[in-house]
Amino acid sequence: MKDKMMFIDPHVHMTSRTTDDYEAMAKAGIVALIEPSFWLGQPRTKVGSFQDYYSSLVGWEPFRASQFGIQHYCTIGLNSKEANNEALAEQVIELLPLYVHKENVVAIGEIGYDDQTAAEDKYFRIQLELAKELDMVVQVHTPHRDKKAGTIRSMEVCLEHGLDPKRVIIDHNNEETVEEVLNRGFIAAFTIYPNTKMGNERMVEVVKKYGSTDIIVDSSADWGVSDPLAVPKTASLMLKNGIAEEHVKKTCYQNALDAFGKNGKMKESDWMNAKGIDQTELYNNNSVLRGQNPKIEKTDKIH
Ligand SMILES: [Zn+2]
Repeated sequence: MKDKMMFIDPHVHMTSRTTDDYEAMAKAGIVALIEPSFWLGQPRTKVGSFQDYYSSLVGWEPFRASQFGIQHYCTIGLNSKEANNEALAEQVIELLPLYVHKENVVAIGEIGYDDQTAAEDKYFRIQLELAKELDMVVQVHTPHRDKKAGTIRSMEVCLEHGLDPKRVIIDHNNEETVEEVLNRGFIAAFTIYPNTKMGNERMVEVVKKYGSTDIIVDSSADWGVSDPLAVPKTASLMLKNGIAEEHVKKTCYQNALDAFGKNGKMKESDWMNAKGIDQTELYNNNSVLRGQNPKIEKTDKIH
């Protein structure tokens, strides 16, 4: 069997996705993913909702991923949109230290600006300080409106707080922002959305123009119109368009591992030496099965 390419999707909100997605992702070669803490569409009104959400990102969801042979990591943070509820934001900030040390937490994120309000700025800075104190990598969400100014501002604030640009992943880039991000020495991630924004044909052109250093592809798939297979699909389009396999590997696997592997929690041996799928396993007495026959696939390094 020809060696199948391995992929990492370093930005995908699996809580909002189905087991079919997990199956399809594993089949397409995704071996590991990172689930950033984000907004759930419905604004939360109680700190307990955040607490249960974070607990799920370090508990139930990694278990669910493991049932389909995928390694699950996450980033913990207060998203920019909900930073605007200041009374709640204060309580959420107090919670973060309880989660950032959990075994699958690889960064503080996704944090940054949405509407670029004073409250967003305040909580972005507080979390940058937390990252600095704990020597953690930061995953930055850049605004969809007023993107270029918001992206530049995000980087300036990171520098102002003394963060090393190589430990900051600036996400949701496009052709307008990529040069500024790379020139300042930050890592540039690109979210491939179907139909709109950054499509995968445009991503091919970005890699042709800027190369593969410090560039990362992700799906940001969530509860909206999005595609959890965006990374493998973009990779195959790159190969079809003559981009060398080494560049595809860097942008769709290695750079994400290098960027998010810095605290030692995410490492290649996690999936190379994985014990395989065992759906007879339970998490708090709960399984992903509803009376179906469990699938058991002991792997010995098929990759
Ligand atoms: Zn996101």
